[in-house]
Amino acid sequence: MSDSNVLEDARPSASPARGEERRAFIKSFGCQMNVYDAERMADIAAEEGYREAQRAEDADLIVLNTCHIRERASEKIYSELGKLKELKDQRRRAGRGVTLIVAGCLAQAEGAEILRRQPAVDVVVGPQSYHRLPELLREARLRPGVVAADFPAEDKFARLPPATPDAIARRGVAAFVTVQEGCDKFCSFCVVPYTRGAESSRSVRAVVDEIARLAAAGVREVMLLGQNVNAYHGRDGDGRPVGLAELIRAAAAVPGIARLRYATSHPGDMNEELIAAHRDVAALAPYLHLPVQSGSDRVLKAMNRRHRAADYLDIVARARAARPDIAFSSDFIVGYPGETDADFEATLRLIRNVGFASAYAFKYSPRPGTPAAEAAGQIDASIKERRLAELQALVEDQRQAFNQATVGRRLEVLFEKPGRRAGQVAGRSPYMQAVFADGPESLIGVMAQVEIIAAEAHSLRGRVVSPAS
Ligand code: SAM
Ligand code: SF4
Repeated sequence: MSDSNVLEDARPSASPARGEERRAFIKSFGCQMNVYDAERMADIAAEEGYREAQRAEDADLIVLNTCHIRERASEKIYSELGKLKELKDQRRRAGRGVTLIVAGCLAQAEGAEILRRQPAVDVVVGPQSYHRLPELLREARLRPGVVAADFPAEDKFARLPPATPDAIARRGVAAFVTVQEGCDKFCSFCVVPYTRGAESSRSVRAVVDEIARLAAAGVREVMLLGQNVNAYHGRDGDGRPVGLAELIRAAAAVPGIARLRYATSHPGDMNEELIAAHRDVAALAPYLHLPVQSGSDRVLKAMNRRHRAADYLDIVARARAARPDIAFSSDFIVGYPGETDADFEATLRLIRNVGFASAYAFKYSPRPGTPAAEAAGQIDASIKERRLAELQALVEDQRQAFNQATVGRRLEVLFEKPGRRAGQVAGRSPYMQAVFADGPESLIGVMAQVEIIAAEAHSLRGRVVSPAS
């Protein structure tokens, strides 16, 4: 049996008749890295002859690409699996089988426990093993309930099929490229080091080749992704270690690439070269997502973040000196074990001090197996709720003030799709703001100079001044 037929042979006996079209539905939860992984799983499915389904109801193969970062994320997935079991039962009664796969970080963390809680699942596959999907499906056909949640040594990326130009074009002009995976930081609240494993980086060649393929199929903007992307330490063709700043310079040199971003960074790895890249590399967006989590040194120490609030403020100041129009976003956790009112006040102070363009805030959620889950001083749900609301109100004020301050400015907007009404196009500013402007669909894929004329609740309105490319 050739490898390319493995999925076909893995069909449950009640699958579509020979010649009938098979479809795959992949639903992704959580972070941007999961979106990237889901696209790569779609590429595997396409190579095996599956067309994309828009709904689970139409699919013969269903993949839930899961998140485990907070408790609610996991519970949502178990509830979704319950509904899919019913769908699977219905489809079986109608004489057509469905193969159900759980991928992603919940799969990695819970492994066989997922099969115990939901026996309708055929395959559980972690984020480091999904390149093995064809052979796992073959195994599942013989013995449903296969688990692959190890950290295999082989290079997953080298074994993934490249996306076809059609698939790239369908996904739009802005793309993700994972350049680094895993994390060695072990912040005391976080499951990532356990679900994604140790830090590892792709080679410069592999990343640049992937970006060149994307650009050739129409992609203009790439976001370089990693759990800790600024800890990137790939190798160049001579085996020389290369940091993220140099990778950004190599990516910016790929013909057709108009804009680059990177996420998510750790303050501890924000080095001078990277700050200088914000000054020197025109394609690098002046926007930095840099999670700080807390403004209290006591809490940061308990979180094992390895930086103080002052270090964070120092990075912000140095980045602003290098690139005066840079803006920041961040992640915050409220109600970490032992967080006092004074600690929380210190976080609000840091937020006022920086002035964020946007930010994500989360109530601390104990994750099994992490040190913080066992720590004394767990905070009452009502206190977490109150602190979350207060923090969110502050960052929302800052977001709106930032948006308002862009009115009258000229921003580079990469147009990505048709707008909400005819004759309108929609794109993103360097600061990730959604921008709508009147203009023809031929602007899609163009980076244009746009004068911002109004800031609305969740988007900006602009006037195209001149296409810059
Ligand atoms: N690598 C990034 C960093 O260094 O901050 C973040 C990775 S994590 C996938 C995304 C965000 O989820 C974190 O920045 C944090 O704010 C939040 N998060 C992670 N674990 C959490 C937990 N146990 N409870 C609440 N929020 C959490
Ligand atoms: Fe999690 Fe980020 Fe800390 Fe790594 S650096 S443990 S991914 S929060």
